[in-house]
Amino acid sequence: MNIAILSGKGGTGKTTVATNLTMTLGVGYVDCDVEEPNGFIFLAPSIRKKDEVFAEYPIIDKNKCTLCGSCAKACQFHALAKAGKQIVVFEKLCHDCGACKIVCRADALAYTIRSVGKLEEGTVKGISCYRGILKVSEPMAVPVIKKLLKSLPKGDFFIDCPPGTSCNVVSTLRYADAAILVTEPSEFGLHDLKMAVELVKLYKVPYGIIINKDDNKENLVKVFCKNESISLLGTIPYSMEAAALYSKGIMLYENDRYKKIFKSIGNRIKEAFKWKLLC
Ligand code: SF4
Ligand code: SF4
Repeated sequence: MNIAILSGKGGTGKTTVATNLTMTLGVGYVDCDVEEPNGFIFLAPSIRKKDEVFAEYPIIDKNKCTLCGSCAKACQFHALAKAGKQIVVFEKLCHDCGACKIVCRADALAYTIRSVGKLEEGTVKGISCYRGILKVSEPMAVPVIKKLLKSLPKGDFFIDCPPGTSCNVVSTLRYADAAILVTEPSEFGLHDLKMAVELVKLYKVPYGIIINKDDNKENLVKVFCKNESISLLGTIPYSMEAAALYSKGIMLYENDRYKKIFKSIGNRIKEAFKWKLLC
């Protein structure tokens, strides 16, 4: 089973939850937050495999091109433009949809590739860990995310999603069997959580919420969960102790108090999603 861990809002502790649940339950970890994949900083797996990710974009044969402009009109992503006596290609805007080649009657278009990122695979304490890394200055994360998720073997994984509800998150959710939304009890947290809930509903996967930095009160997120009948999978208390451990790079599950908390959340996740671990 693949369980996507997303947040809506950045900075809620999504990676903290994903990495600590990974170590508590002993299931695989996948970092799809390819613009800033920081899960490996905590997990520190030994890397056993690396792979490059390429994206396609068109090149134009000037000898064949009639400058009809059809390809530029067909491109919905403004990756092609007719400028004077040439067609300009903005390769980083290309979504590799193939429309330009279909409409070109002069057979003047061909595709080439460029490197946009890499994948890494490693192990820590027998647990498999995967991550994608987008190249600096590359604007599109989706090719890296897609290749990363397609390369996964069959198994149980927590997928650490990119923040927000953009197409990067959408492309991750396509591979998810269930979702966990990590939030914090603040107005901003609730606002972005609502967007994440709407997104998850579209995918019709079971989902639940974890509140990080919980104030132990009947806060606005708990009220929202009750009103919307959304399963609250657990809470992680707001504490200086957690911040101190985090600042030293110590994972919370290594501390007895937090180990209990993550074990209890893990049990609720298994129960809520009827999750029978393969390993
Ligand atoms: S569609 Fe083909 S022929 Fe027309 S401008 Fe584009 S590359 Fe040139
Ligand atoms: S492949 Fe699609 S996105 Fe890329 S340049 Fe052609 S039409 Fe535009």
